[in-house]
Amino acid sequence: MVTIHRYINTDVGIARYNNKDGRYLCHYKGYQKSLHKVVFDKHYGKKARKGLEIHHRDGNKFNNHYSNLIAIDKETHDWLHSQIEKANYEVNIIENSFADAKASVPLKIR
Ligand SMILES: [Zn+2]
Repeated sequence: MVTIHRYINTDVGIARYNNKDGRYLCHYKGYQKSLHKVVFDKHYGKKARKGLEIHHRDGNKFNNHYSNLIAIDKETHDWLHSQIEKANYEVNIIENSFADAKASVPLKIR
């Protein structure tokens, strides 16, 4: 469970949580921008993400540390998320089958 703070202090200033897209926004050079883009631009330069999308390596969009951000093309990004979704789905099936198996084991009392 991830705790969502309405405001967070970052090295690029105060960022505000945006309910609409579930991301943090901050003010940068007079504009309101997504925190992950500002952090990326500050560390890698805006050119590094030209025509690309930013992906959060660990899957946690609240982890906007520059080391967690990578710029990739839309096609690769979509493919990556489809693979992550597929893997999560399969993990859920496995976990649920373990839960079912546990539930069906008769309780032994020594
Ligand atoms: Zn992504």
